[in-house]
Amino acid sequence: MELLIKNGRLLDGTGADWFRADVAISEGKIVEVGRVSGFHADKEIDATGKIVSPGFIDMHSHSDMTALLYPEAESKVKQGVTTEVVGNCGFTLAPVADDTLELLKRSTDTVTPVSAALTWDWKSLSDYFERVGRLGHSVNYAPLVGQGTIRLSVMGFEKREPSDSEIRKMGSLLRDEIRDGAFGMSSGLVYTPGCFSKTEELVEVAKSMSAEGGLYFSHIRNESSGVLGAVGEAIRIGEEANVPVEVSHVKVMGKSNWGLSSKIISLLEEGRQKGVEVNADMYPYTAGETALWAALPAWAQEGGVDASLARLKETTFRERVKSEMISPREGTQSFVADAGWEGIQIPSVGSGDKAVQGRTMAELAARDGMEPFDRFVKMLLDEKGEAAMIVHSMGEADVSTFMANPLVSIGSDQNGVTPGRGPLGGLLHPRAYGCFPRVLGRYVREKSNLGIA
Ligand SMILES: [Zn+2]
Repeated sequence: MELLIKNGRLLDGTGADWFRADVAISEGKIVEVGRVSGFHADKEIDATGKIVSPGFIDMHSHSDMTALLYPEAESKVKQGVTTEVVGNCGFTLAPVADDTLELLKRSTDTVTPVSAALTWDWKSLSDYFERVGRLGHSVNYAPLVGQGTIRLSVMGFEKREPSDSEIRKMGSLLRDEIRDGAFGMSSGLVYTPGCFSKTEELVEVAKSMSAEGGLYFSHIRNESSGVLGAVGEAIRIGEEANVPVEVSHVKVMGKSNWGLSSKIISLLEEGRQKGVEVNADMYPYTAGETALWAALPAWAQEGGVDASLARLKETTFRERVKSEMISPREGTQSFVADAGWEGIQIPSVGSGDKAVQGRTMAELAARDGMEPFDRFVKMLLDEKGEAAMIVHSMGEADVSTFMANPLVSIGSDQNGVTPGRGPLGGLLHPRAYGCFPRVLGRYVREKSNLGIA
């Protein structure tokens, strides 16, 4: 198939200004760019008045979770995404250890309820992606290995420091994965078990990928009142382990913290002045999405989902959880404290119950005549922890500040899906289909926020 795209304004992805050019494509490859003549195309597209650009890179995606189920990834392709950095926030489906496999499956389901549909016949991430490769897929993947998954495979959900031999084991698992093709390691330091890892542990493990050119991507330890310290920790890990750093889905949660975006940008710039190659990515929305289970304080998640849910039935445990969710301890963050119950919205639950979809926790509590916290616990128990939450906690001014900075790229934070297929029901965060169109529509065309309109 020969294709000619004519008369477009070409942005070639190098950062150069646009220029007017035709693009000739033969059998899936670009064969000529410029004033193309004498090319016999089966199909011509007149791009007059339009931009022609290479496919977008989704810098922060979770499509590895669904790559075996939705290899078509229509939600990505329809936005123009052709490459995704996957395996973010500390969580990946490998490496797998036999004695912690069940724990891995259960925690997978709190984020994306897919474990029952998967065969789990892989051990390493490269094994896993070999299966994805055999299936064929629409989008290219740049995989990261989850630090949480590595730690889980070595130490389970234990809240303690690792021994020297456990550190070595985690380091060698990481190094092997990088040698087999992973691009780096991601951490999710508000989630178990990553939240149990101290900075020194992360430095030691990250050191093992330094010589291999591995990158450190981090969902940092605090995106709320402690965000500056958490950005500092990510940069310190890069500096001490000698690896480049990406601050994942950079944000400021909680109204009382809004405005910290410019200080975060200064920290990133200072990090670069010190010689750490630090960048960040973001999605263009004031609401995020994660597992409802993640709303519990970290210590309440110890031992994994089932252990945690069992303890939630005890009154004294519930009271401790409640007081800390509403007023978190110094240095910790709480999604509920930052967003309020009216800012915690439920897009989907494991049972598929449509009566809760799209409702906030405050609305559900009022509807059912319950206290919001009790309604929250009931949902976790009823759904065995399999429920998602959309968290409305960011300010538009911070989103705009991050968006305008050249150190910040775009990542959807969403896994690829194909409509009408598979076990994932319910509603989706609009970023699933709308991330890149919203950057171009709202932030480039309407607000001129990137200075390139
Ligand atoms: Zn994350």
